[in-house]
Amino acid sequence: MSTTKTRTVVPVASCAMPHLPPMRSDVERLAWHATRRFARFRVLAWTCHEHRATWYELCQGGGVWFIQRMSGDPLKPNVAQSHAWREAEARQMWVALLFGAVR
Ligand SMILES: [Zn+2]
Repeated sequence: MSTTKTRTVVPVASCAMPHLPPMRSDVERLAWHATRRFARFRVLAWTCHEHRATWYELCQGGGVWFIQRMSGDPLKPNVAQSHAWREAEARQMWVALLFGAVR
């Protein structure tokens, strides 16, 4: 698949991880909570943590889905978590986040 668009050209354009766009003016603010202690959870998707000071992860654990917001040192980040959702809601939120509609 090729694209004829030739915008850009900052080095990070080659980054394989998603970079979030600026927040939309009608952005919906999520409530971010201190981390709950999930015994185990899986990270299913994530945004770029190499070129961004704040990054996000879509997680599933204990039968619920949530988004983690990470910031600071990638080796020892500050972590906050969204509400827990069912899968469909969580995936919608994740897409909205990637498009700058939710943050
Ligand atoms: Zn990147």
